[in-house]
This record gives sequence, structure tokens and C-alpha cells, in this order.
Amino acid sequence: MIGSEKIRIAVIGGGAAGFFAAISCKQHHPDADVIIFEKSNKTLAKVKISGGGRCNVTHATFDINALSKNYPRGERQLRKAFSQFMTTDTVEWFESRGVQLITQEDNCIFPKAQDSQVVIDCLMHEVKKRNITIRLHSHIDKIDKANGGYNLAVREQDVLFCNKIIVAIGGQPKMRGLQWLADLGHRIESPVPSLFTFNMPDNSITKLMGVVVNPASVKIPGTKLQADGPLLITHWGMSGPAILKLSAWGARILEEKNYNFSILVNWLHPKTESDITNLVEHVILNLNSKMVKNTNPFGLPNRLWKFLLLKYAIPDDQRWGSLSKKIKNKLVQLLFVDEYVVSGKTTFKEEFVTCGGVALEDVNFKSMESKVCPGMYFTGEVLDIDGITGGFNFQSAWTTGFIAGKLG
Ligand SMILES: Cc1cc2nc3c(=O)[nH]c(=O)nc-3n(C[C@H](O)[C@H](O)[C@H](O)COP(=O)(O)OP(=O)(O)OC[C@H]3O[C@@H](n4cnc5c(N)ncnc54)[C@H](O)[C@@H]3O)c2cc1C
Repeated sequence: MIGSEKIRIAVIGGGAAGFFAAISCKQHHPDADVIIFEKSNKTLAKVKISGGGRCNVTHATFDINALSKNYPRGERQLRKAFSQFMTTDTVEWFESRGVQLITQEDNCIFPKAQDSQVVIDCLMHEVKKRNITIRLHSHIDKIDKANGGYNLAVREQDVLFCNKIIVAIGGQPKMRGLQWLADLGHRIESPVPSLFTFNMPDNSITKLMGVVVNPASVKIPGTKLQADGPLLITHWGMSGPAILKLSAWGARILEEKNYNFSILVNWLHPKTESDITNLVEHVILNLNSKMVKNTNPFGLPNRLWKFLLLKYAIPDDQRWGSLSKKIKNKLVQLLFVDEYVVSGKTTFKEEFVTCGGVALEDVNFKSMESKVCPGMYFTGEVLDIDGITGGFNFQSAWTTGFIAGKLG
């Protein structure tokens, strides 16, 4: 508790981070008057649709260093924050409140009920139990410093004095959504999308929609960007964890390229170029008299193998035993550095986030307090933090929300 007087805390934004911060705040300061201001007519809207309606609550990575590595932005700062509240705490928090969780093969953690509503019900129950007020239709777009706190302008009408403010407004696609925070003196990293799939209009590989190669790796020539994992061919281009990871790590660079760039796919990841050259030699010895087009010796999906042979113009009557050096090189190339031109992006329907937001240098990650405005705290996607897919984005919302709610 802060002093003996009842203090008023405003939580701006009724999403995952705002709810978690409000609950933590009441836990740590039971006498405080905590109010969640939500601009729309409903709270927790993203939790509802998250993970395809199942809500990927967190990820089964229980080592702080390994966990932090899943954040293209925020890795260093979150390492500090996770020492206060991390994945183990999330699991314990929900399970102790009756939300049973289950870990998938890919280490993503979901409610056993496979329904995001159980997460919403749990958060809502905690909020009600602790007498936290929710004010819907309450857009906050102006905050002025006042003696010992802040004056909030609610929908440009009422002005309300609050001793402390927790900002949990989520990722803002446009700079103007963050302007009031910039006006208070915070540096803002410009917002750009993260977690998107790659469009390849008119590329005939899209005819192979539904084909998955696991694992493949993808790199962007001329950059250090590289990612691996399952790669899915879609009717508009490429998707799957390998592509989504690449989009997250490359969010800024790819925006600068206006989403026009090339990728090189290694269909036999983790094999290296020399591994693949040796493999081709080995196949030549073993399948000597067989026709290339009638065999599929590298374990690729059949349709993809046929597509690649056509793309690289490997003759129909080519036998393994009579490959020229040029064709041998082509085969290594089509397996190891198969090139595609990307033109545009599509937002991933299961999960997308914003890269950019309040600059991390302006926030003390021990408390989530602003270094610019004392008594103001930040949590969730409004910060320049974003993770790859797999429950990492909610984890950073739970972590920063828990810490912000402690109010120092
Ligand atoms: C389709 C989809 C699926 C996803 N699935 C997953 C998943 O399964 N696992 C995972 O880890 N992540 C997932 N994510 C990402 C995750 O949902 C977000 O990272 C997370 O919701 C961020 O929480 P937040 O509270 O910071 O922001 P938000 O959830 O965006 O909440 C912010 C709230 O603030 C309100 N608000 C904004 N401005 C104001 C204002 N000025 N005044 C008052 N209120 C305001 C908004 O209306 C909103 O309700 C998904 C995202 C999407 C889009």
C-alpha cells in the first residue's frame, strides 16, 4: 500500500496486459481504487480470437535466456523482467485459478478446454472478485501531469485525477495512436507490422498449396536474416513458422524494402551445401540407371520435387548416371538455394503483432515505470516488444502487466 490514503490507479486499455496489471495492482495494493478504461464496447477482444480461438497462453520454455531469445525486440529487457514473472509463473497463475493447461508437441501451451473463453472467464472473475472497475467506451487520449499524479481526459469530456497510470493500450498500427505518449516526452519507435506471410503473386508454386516441408530454412540474400522450421505453401505464397519467424526478425528491414525482396529456401535444412553435394553424388551412384523424374530420393513431398525439376528445366529423360556437371550444380541449387520473389505480405490470421511503440530505453524494466513520467507504467504491446508466434506475446503481456501492477 502507498501511504494511508486511498489512491486511484487508472489502467488504460482492457486487453490481456491491462487486466493482468489491474489484478496484480489490487493484489499488491488491496486498498487502491483500480479502474480499467477501455475505449471500445468490450474487453479482452484479442484474447477471444487468439490462437484461432484457443488462446496460446504461453510457451513451455522455462529457462530465462532461452525464453528471451524469442523476442526480436525486447530480448535484453525482458530477461530482467522474466526474473520477476515468467512462463512457470503463468502456468501456476492460471492453473491455481482453475484453468487447466496443456502443452502441445511444439511446446505451445493452451487451455485444456481448447477455448479462449476459459482464459477470459478467469481474468474476468479475478477482476470482479477484487472490485476492479471497468469503464467501457472510455477513450483516453490526453493526460496532463498534475500535482502528485495525472489528469486524464476521458473521451475529451470528463477529467479525472489519478495518482498512478498504467498504460496498456496495445500495439498501435499508426503513430498517431501513440502521439499523446510522445507529447509527454516518450521516444516512440515507429510502428510496423510483424508476423506476416509472404505473397508470391503469379508464382506457380502456389499451385502446391497445402504442401509442408519440415524443417526448411529461409534466408534473405544481402541480409543476415535467416529462419527455419516448418514451411507451408499457400495459395498466395508461403507461410508457416519458418516464414513467420523471418517476418518477425526482419519486420523493419522488410518494411524498408516495401515488402519486395527475394528469399532463398534450403529444402533440406539443416543440411549444408557440401552435405547436399555429397548426397547428390551418393544418389548418382545408387540410382545410376534410373530416370531423375521417376525417383524422389531426398524425401521431399512428391509434388514439390516434380515442381522443382520443372522449374530448373531438368530434362524429362535425364538419368542419374549421366548428369552433366551443370545439371548436378542445378540440382544442388534447387535443393539448397531455391529462389523466390516476394511481392507483398499478408497478415497471419492466427496471430499478428506490432513492432515498435514506446522506446525501451525510456522504461525501467524492474518496475515498468516510465523514466520520463514518474508514476506512469507501461505493459504489453504498447512497448517496443514483440515475440515470434507460440505464446510469447501473451507471456510478455503477463510479465510486464504483473510487474507494472506492483507500482514500483
Ligand atoms: C488474431 C490474433 C491472434 C493472436 N494470438 C495469440 C496467441 O495465441 N498467443 C500470443 O501469445 N499472442 C497472440 N496474439 C498477440 C496478442 O494477442 C497480443 O500481443 C496481446 O493481446 C497484447 O495485449 P495488450 O493488452 O498489450 O494489447 P491489446 O490486447 O491490443 O489490448 C489493448 C486494449 O486497449 C484498448 N485501447 C487502445 N487505446 C486506448 C485508449 N486510448 N483508451 C482506452 N483504451 C484503449 C484497446 O481497445 C484494447 O482493448 C494474437 C494477436 C492477434 C491479432
